[in-house]
Order: sequence, then C-alpha cells, then structure tokens
Amino acid sequence: MTIRTRFAPSPTGFLHIGGARTALFSWAYARGHGGKFILRVEDTDVARSTPEAVQAIMDGMNWLGLNYDEGPFYQMQRMERYKAVIQEMLAAGTAYLCYTSPDELTAMREAQMTAGIKPRYDGTWRPELGKNLATSPIGVLPVVRFRNPQSGVVTWEDQVKGRISIANDELDDFIIARADGTPTYNFCVVVDDWDMGITHVIRGDDHVNNTPRQINLLHALGVAVPQYAHLSMILGDDGQKLSKRHGAVSVMQYDEDGYLPEAVLNYLARLGWSHGDEEVFDMVQFCQWFDLDHITASAAQFNTEKLNWLNAHYIKQADLGRLATEVTKRLALRGIATDGGAEMAGVVALYRERVSTLNELSDAVEYFYQRIHPATEVLEKHLTAEIRPILLALTGQLADCAWTALSIHHLIEQAVVSNGLKFPKVAMPLRVLLTGGAQSPSIDAVMELLGREEVLLRLNEYLA
Ligand code: GLU
Repeated sequence: MTIRTRFAPSPTGFLHIGGARTALFSWAYARGHGGKFILRVEDTDVARSTPEAVQAIMDGMNWLGLNYDEGPFYQMQRMERYKAVIQEMLAAGTAYLCYTSPDELTAMREAQMTAGIKPRYDGTWRPELGKNLATSPIGVLPVVRFRNPQSGVVTWEDQVKGRISIANDELDDFIIARADGTPTYNFCVVVDDWDMGITHVIRGDDHVNNTPRQINLLHALGVAVPQYAHLSMILGDDGQKLSKRHGAVSVMQYDEDGYLPEAVLNYLARLGWSHGDEEVFDMVQFCQWFDLDHITASAAQFNTEKLNWLNAHYIKQADLGRLATEVTKRLALRGIATDGGAEMAGVVALYRERVSTLNELSDAVEYFYQRIHPATEVLEKHLTAEIRPILLALTGQLADCAWTALSIHHLIEQAVVSNGLKFPKVAMPLRVLLTGGAQSPSIDAVMELLGREEVLLRLNEYLA
C-alpha cells in the first residue's frame, strides 16, 4: 500500500504554527514511507476564502520546503463531482431529500430543548420500510440528508488518541447538500479523501467530532476508511491558547523576525512528537524517524526560548554566504546600503556566534555600514585626557601598517606596553569610537573588516 497523506487548509488566513505543524507531520509521514503528499484547498466557504490566503499558505509551505506531489486541488473546482456523488447516494437510498424548512427546524429545536432533549433532526423525511412519507411540499427546495445509521457505534483507532467510539444515536441525519445544491463541508472532505486515495488523515483535533460522521459516510459509499491521527492543540508560552504574540501569526512572520526555516521545522517537529531525547535534527533525519506512535496525546506548549536556542544553533552552522545575503536584505529594508562597505561574509562570521536571530545579527553589524555615534557619557568615560594622545599616535601608525588583524593587534599591544597600561584601556576607547558602543568582538578583527580608510575616518573625527 502506498501511503497517501494530505494537508487540507481552509484558505481563510495565513499558515500559522498549528497549520504548519499539521502540514509538516503529514508531509514527513509520506516522505518517510515512500508515499505521496497532497495539497488540497478547502475553499467552499466562499465568504471567508480568499486567493490571498491561498497564496499566503503556499508561501509558508514554500518557505518551509514542504513540497507536495499532487495538487493543489481546489474544492470549488470539484463541485460537479460532489453533485454526482450526491445523486448516486440518493439513488442508492443512503441519502434522502428533506423538505423541513429552516423555520420548522428552529421550532423543532426549541421544542426539543424545552423538553430537555438534545436538539436534532427528527427524521420526518427519512424513508423507512413501511413508512408513508408526506408528499413533497410545492415551492420548498429540499436539502439532502445523509441516512446515518440509527444504532450501533462508530469506532476508530485514533493513531494519537487511541480508540474512540461514538454511538450512532448521538449523530443525526446531517445535511450533505444545502437547498441551493451546494455540498457541505463533511461531505466534500469524504469524497476528496476517497478520490485522492488518502490512507492517513493527519489533522488537528478540532476535527475529532467530524470523524464519526465522515466514517459513516465512507461506509455508506462502500469505500475504505483511512487511518486518523488527530493532533492535539498547541498552547502558547503561557499555557493559554496561542495568541498573536506567539504562534498564531503567519509562519512568514518567523522569516521576518529572523528565524531560519530549518530551525522552525526542527522546532515544530518536536512540538508534540519525540524520538528519545533528540532535539536537534534535520528533515532527512526527521522523515526517517517520524511515526504516529510517538505523537503525544496531550497539548504541546510553545516555547520561544527553545525556538531561539535552535535558531542560534542553525545560524552557527549556516553557510556564510547565505547569512550574508539574509543580513544584506534585512539591512536594505532598514535603508542601510552595504555595497562598498565591509565584506559581509566576514562581518557575519564575527557575530554569528553571539546572536539567536538574523535580526539580532543585523542589529549587531549595522555599525559597519552606518556611523553609530557613541553617547556622550560613554565617550567621556573611555576617551580620557590620558588616553587621547596615545590613540592619536596609534592612529598615525595605523595609517601605514599592514592591514591585517594581526599587525593591528601588534600596534595596539605596543601602545599598551609602552605606556604601561592594561589592554582594555586602549581597546575600549577604540571600540567606542569605531562601533559606537563598548561591546564588540575582538577589536583588531573589527578594524580589519572596517577597512583602513573607514577606521581612520572614524578615529580622526574625535581625535584630530
Ligand atoms: N480544512 C480543514 C481545516 O483547515 C481541515 C480538514 C481536514 O484536515 O480534514 O481545518
């Protein structure tokens, strides 16, 4: 059997963390089992679906590298197929026309609630052996209802939650086509999963309630029932429902915030799934390891600190050219041009060990490409009257020494030793004048990258 999984987003918003994890698990399950991963766009809620949302979901999947083998299939383009299946069910007697009007339904519901019973369709138009149905009223467009079994239970072995059984008398004859002929949500999902040969439905557990209805429909159609794996929800850092501050935003926001896709993927993989104590792994490894048995049934909690830790790890490992491109792009967005300035790959190499996001990396290296003037207090603290002439002399020597970190280091050292000082006494004011702040990696390496001309310019501005 070829494993076939699908990701079936409703395009009513962007791809958020929960959706991305569902997509990742479905994708990985197919990839790890030589199967196929299908993208299906569930766009039948015309009022809420937008082409922008479709694009946003695809952008998110693209950024994460979750490539699909088939699709995207759009439910709105499959209407004829749904209508044909509805006709077949009507002919087979597994579905029937119901003329109960919305007003009658409301009255029915109210009467049931007053009587203290669960509101449900009362089966007036359900054909039964030996039952005489009323003649269809003129001028009322019927809906189509599924003839749900009235006894027995629907049971499935949920791959995450274990065995789930629902009594059929809990489910009423739900509508599969509205009066205007349009098919309803559960019906489309079932026809799609059937037509697309889906073997494993991996989705959020907000769909658990739909599953018994979908299984009954599949039985009525006489087709195979897939395995179901319902993923528990993701809670925010604070244990509450995901909010805009963490996770409920588009995955593209993570790109904007300076996360690498491989860090987000690695992070998502561990959100409700584990392989021993493994924390850091790439997607090749993940696809090999991923199984449904080790998905946790309890809710997973988002942990920004851990995501940052993983991101820092991947930034340390990333190709320097790629980091350089990322930082160049981010600085450009801030209006800071980098061409003609310090060599970016060298600059990011100097800082990448110290940051956990690309945005922090961009913040850290801004001073290479634009002057950042030190605050007066910082300047006064480090550029003392005693140190001024020493720096001035050093500036003279820097004008014609070999321009390498090593020879720059020697010159600073000489100035330190010949004046009987400690190294920071000279290095700190240099830092302040060159970077605008009192913290930087080794100052000689910074100077080499800044370039002689820029170093002299910045020093002379304060010393000359
Ligand atoms: N379209 C549904 C959603 O976005 C998913 C349905 C399914 O996976 O069966 O929540």
